[in-house]
Amino acid sequence: MTDLRSGSADSENAPSRTEATLAVARRQRWWVSLEKEQLIFSAAHFITFAGDVCERIHGHNYRVRCEIAGPLDENRYVIDFILLRDALLELTRQLDHHVLLPADHPEIRVVDDGREVTATFRERRWVFPSEDAVILPVANTTAELIAGWLAERLLEKLAERGAARPSALRIGVDENEGQWGIVELEFDA
Ligand SMILES: [Zn+2]
Repeated sequence: MTDLRSGSADSENAPSRTEATLAVARRQRWWVSLEKEQLIFSAAHFITFAGDVCERIHGHNYRVRCEIAGPLDENRYVIDFILLRDALLELTRQLDHHVLLPADHPEIRVVDDGREVTATFRERRWVFPSEDAVILPVANTTAELIAGWLAERLLEKLAERGAARPSALRIGVDENEGQWGIVELEFDA
């Protein structure tokens, strides 16, 4: 009986018939998409909009989804789903059950003295225990910018784990049952 997997190194690495067919397409790109029940975090925040309107503090059950494009590796996949899922879970857990505050907001000042975080916007002031707050390097804690932060951190985590850098990455953050903020990053091959 022939073991189909015991060919020479060359035949093992040869593209499959499917890959050869797809290669003649004008453009070919492989994606994985990850959308899991666990990829959720509950957090409080407030944003400003229309210049000087500042929301009252409130919370969301945020959902996160991710799509990654890249070449197929020797396993013929873009990325290991479990590796991707676990990297994202580490990030959503950092945000879960925290108050999210912007470090780079032009008018909301956020100061952490190690014990308490104080946020001020004009005459308003919020104080939280330091361990209850996450200060993100964003100008406003919108779903779009939270997605951007997740994308940046995810790329770092994937690199730490030795995964190849994707050719494109999309992260979506849903803040209210179907209101998604999405970031898309594209890299040169
Ligand atoms: Zn909100």
